[in-house]
Amino acid sequence: MKKSSTDASVSSEERYKSFIAHSSEGIWRIELEKPLSVKTPIKKQLDHFYQYSYLAECNDAMARMYGLRYTKEIIGARLGDLLIRTDEKNTKYLTDFITSGYKLQNRESYELDKLGNRRVFLNNLVGSVKQGNLVRAWGTQRDITTQIQEKERQEFLEKVNSKLAVSLNHHITLQEIAQLIVPYLADYCRIAIVDEKKNIKEITVNHTDPNKVSLAEDLYDAYKDKPQSTYGIPSLLKKGKPELMKVIDDSLLRKYKADTKTIQIVKQIGLKSYMGVPLIARNKVIGAMTFSSIQENRHYTKNDVKFAEELAHRIALTLDNIRLFQEAQIELDERKHIENNLRFLAEAGKILGSSLDYQTTLNQVAKLAVPQISDWFGIDIFDDKGELQQIAVGHKDPQKIKWAKEMRKKYPPNMEAKNGLPQVLKTGKSELYPFITPEMMEKTARDKEHMQYIKQIGMSSAMIVPLISERKPIGAVTYVSTKRHFTQSDLAIAEELAHRASLAIENARLYNNAQKAITLRDDFISVASHELKTPITSVKIFTQVLQKHAEQNADEKASQSLGKMDKQIDKLTELIYNLLNITKIQSGQMEFTEKEFDFDTMVHEIVDVLQHTSAKHKLVVVGKSNKKILGDEDRIGQVFSNLISNAIKYSPNSDKVVITLTSKRNYVGVSIQDFGIGMDKHHLNKIFNRFYRVSGSTDKTFPGLGIGLYISKEIINRHQGKLWAESIPGKGSTFYITLPVQQSAKPATLPRLRN
Ligand code: ADP
Repeated sequence: MKKSSTDASVSSEERYKSFIAHSSEGIWRIELEKPLSVKTPIKKQLDHFYQYSYLAECNDAMARMYGLRYTKEIIGARLGDLLIRTDEKNTKYLTDFITSGYKLQNRESYELDKLGNRRVFLNNLVGSVKQGNLVRAWGTQRDITTQIQEKERQEFLEKVNSKLAVSLNHHITLQEIAQLIVPYLADYCRIAIVDEKKNIKEITVNHTDPNKVSLAEDLYDAYKDKPQSTYGIPSLLKKGKPELMKVIDDSLLRKYKADTKTIQIVKQIGLKSYMGVPLIARNKVIGAMTFSSIQENRHYTKNDVKFAEELAHRIALTLDNIRLFQEAQIELDERKHIENNLRFLAEAGKILGSSLDYQTTLNQVAKLAVPQISDWFGIDIFDDKGELQQIAVGHKDPQKIKWAKEMRKKYPPNMEAKNGLPQVLKTGKSELYPFITPEMMEKTARDKEHMQYIKQIGMSSAMIVPLISERKPIGAVTYVSTKRHFTQSDLAIAEELAHRASLAIENARLYNNAQKAITLRDDFISVASHELKTPITSVKIFTQVLQKHAEQNADEKASQSLGKMDKQIDKLTELIYNLLNITKIQSGQMEFTEKEFDFDTMVHEIVDVLQHTSAKHKLVVVGKSNKKILGDEDRIGQVFSNLISNAIKYSPNSDKVVITLTSKRNYVGVSIQDFGIGMDKHHLNKIFNRFYRVSGSTDKTFPGLGIGLYISKEIINRHQGKLWAESIPGKGSTFYITLPVQQSAKPATLPRLRN
């Protein structure tokens, strides 16, 4: 009986068992090793679950959900082996199970499969309570991992899209996308963008653990420049095809022939899995993204690669749009900039040409450059010792200039650097940074404070242009913008300005060198003429003594020769005297002894003396001034001596010089007229310059140094008078002097830097 009844029941139990075995849902029973009072506080109940519950029974479908083939492989598993205890959603799930009276429907649980990958299950479960104690639970579960992942990815894409949609600055976009990707899709990721020539122009890295960013950089450095690199950014850019390294282990590293260093870094990072995808827009590879996992339970699959490709597609499209947008923007903007730039260039050119003091002019140019051209402007120049000096800094806020100068002192440029100012100074080639990324800033920063400083400047774009002289860089001009992005046309203007500034600097240097040479020469003349004075005085005295002897001995020949010698000594003395004067004028040391003297008498005395020097010329004095003059009689006499000597010297074929004296109220006037070679009009002003001589005008050469008129002019000026000339070539010249009657000599004005 038992048997027959069993037969019927067996068949129903068999059917039930077969139903369970063939169900696509997981069916399970969990037992509690220790019964649990339903009155236990919730937290304690949760602990109890994890401590005392184990899987007592389940079907194959359930085992498969965990990546296993047979039920026996999973039976006995503790709750904590399956459920991710740290996931708060699981805590909520179990709490709800308790508070609902141990009955839940369609609730998600987050669990781990054999490989450690996360799975999501939809559960229906009920607990069995006996005498106030929970003893077991029954349930079914369905694998909804794919659906959930799909949903999450959709949400993720939405987030990415919303970032992409609002950003027109691709750098910000990349930064934000990288922040979304980590940790959702990767523990660290790298996004690289290339320019037209396929050179990487920008790179963004993000890591769950910021301390590991440098390790990630090391890994990148270890492989990026190897032409044979078969993985990572270079190969993605080259091939434009996605890459997948599902499990990174020793055999994989061997397969990729990774070198010891790479292996070491991979281990240090704890790299478990990797995938990479190219960024492709309009059939062109414009960049690449890599995703790396350091988690035991995150191994990328083909499915993940597909998703990454989808993401890359959207990012590439946006970047391409941004590029198009920027190009359109540039066209619109550009015209305004070009006008602005050209105006700047014209004004800067004027300033640079205005003076030989280049430090001042460059500072003025700096002021002009901000803020129209850039927010920051700086000029650095190598000094005589070859050391780099920052000679101009421009910013609209003087406070900031001060601050920038201090920072510069604290952080002088590292001349070994392979980019920026040092590089420009080395190569003589301009550098343009249309976009300055935080990574670029980080690379240049020396320490935290320096980073802070760089950040505070808030650079968005920069350009550095060398100043070139004799084909060598002598300095550089730096422009930094905090808003705009410099373009090639900005660079062209900057280069043009640098060219003009280089010329100005070069001119100033040449001028300064010439000035130094002149000073050196003047010093020499001064010392030499001073030293000559003493011996020449003795020579004169002895000549006169000898002449007297000769006269006493009635040696006429000797007496005549000695007379000529005496005249030549006079000439020599005058020459030395003039040379001394010139150096005195130069250094503002020409002194005057003032006294009152009769003007006409003075002129007549000079004429009498000079009449002896020329037998050919008759010196004719016409008129009178009848005035007394307050001034230095000797020096004014020297002027007349110079002018009359010149009149004789420059009229070799004539026989007279006419000196006319006049007066007018408080002035006396003199003219000295000769009938000699004369000179062209354009020399008339210049003959009063130091060392100026009219040369090549006649066949005959006239001896002289070109300093007589210079000294004369200075003497007359110091007496507040005037000296000028009129002349007709071939007909003769007239020199005019007017002098105030009662006037003290002016103090010397120190010579100006420029003639
Ligand atoms: P120097 O006569 O020693 O050359 P000066 O300073 O006295 O120097 O004169 C400067 C130049 O002016 C002369 O070299 C000469 O060319 C020109 N000059 C001066 N006086 C006359 C003159 N009376 N007639 C023509 N040229 C003159």
